[in-house]
Amino acid sequence: MTERKVLLTGDRPTGKLHIGHYVGSLKNRVAMQNSGEYTPYIMIADKQAFTDNARNPEKIQNSLLEVALDYLAVGIDPKKTTIFVQTAIPELSELTEYFLNLVSIARLQRNPTVKTEIQQKGFGESIPAGFFIYPVSQAADIALFKGTIVPVGDDQEPMLEQTRELVRTFNHVYHTDVLKEPTGFFPPKGQGRIPGLDGVKMSKSLGNAIYLSDSEDELWAKVKSMYTDPKHIQVTDPGHIEGNMVFTYLDIFDSNQAQVAELKAQYQAGGLGDMKIKKYLFEVLNQELTPIRERRQALAEDKPAVLQMLKDGSQRARETAQVTMTEIRTAMGIQYWD
Ligand code: ATP
Ligand code: MG
Repeated sequence: MTERKVLLTGDRPTGKLHIGHYVGSLKNRVAMQNSGEYTPYIMIADKQAFTDNARNPEKIQNSLLEVALDYLAVGIDPKKTTIFVQTAIPELSELTEYFLNLVSIARLQRNPTVKTEIQQKGFGESIPAGFFIYPVSQAADIALFKGTIVPVGDDQEPMLEQTRELVRTFNHVYHTDVLKEPTGFFPPKGQGRIPGLDGVKMSKSLGNAIYLSDSEDELWAKVKSMYTDPKHIQVTDPGHIEGNMVFTYLDIFDSNQAQVAELKAQYQAGGLGDMKIKKYLFEVLNQELTPIRERRQALAEDKPAVLQMLKDGSQRARETAQVTMTEIRTAMGIQYWD
């Protein structure tokens, strides 16, 4: 029997999960979980959330259960996937420290995703050191669980590259093969970085998201406010579809692409109103989100059960982490006592 591949991914508890997570990562995780070909771990990255929310612990605390509910609602099954909480595994911090000695500051400065995020978060000259090094902590997350397959959105490619480098360096320096190089598993082209309502990457932290838990009213209000084509004033005016968020979303979410092509042609020729096309998009999204929303509401009735599920998952994850940590310390020559 071939050994199952370990799948590891996670999300920061900085808010509820959105439709970008759904197509960018969650859908893949559920499919891979159900294939039975993997040993899946999903981590709620609360330690990482502190790197840019240290002064706002309530946000992290409040988001923990929200993220867990989102997981369960989309079909992550705790019987098949170990769902755990990052801060429950102190070994992750230990490995992060060892990794930090194997990477230069110059290398960390080159990470394009971190560069963009530093700009977006407006840190200026006061970039928290913990934030700056978060890709190293992510490398530790993946490496400690020997994750070899990591289903994530496109913004995570630089993190995976960094992880592979650190794993190679660690194994080389300490003459071992204990750590494994991961590969990313990315969604189909165009779905790995879903734009938000304002056109930049949809993010929990940017207030530009459509959440899996949004009510029908919230969903309609967001779709109604979406950016279309400012020159499309009269219904009869020809409209542009490039940069038009309604069509961007239809490309991603409507399974009837022949219909989308027809609507695009009609819009470009003139004669298709913004309200009509937005109503259509609303229906497409609502059809996908309704079952998720309903399952989530039912699960939210018993929050203690969700918290217990996280505790059980974290306990199992820690046992695995401790075994690998002993192997790591042995390789480094610091396992002084049995
Ligand atoms: P934050 O603003 O706190 O960073 P986020 O919305 O970027 O939140 P993360 O928890 O950082 O979400 O990301 C979790 C996973 O979801 C990652 O694999 C990431 O690539 C993926 N992801 C996040 N946003 C999108 C998006 N807009 N499109 C596709 N995938 C996404
Ligand atoms: Mg992010």
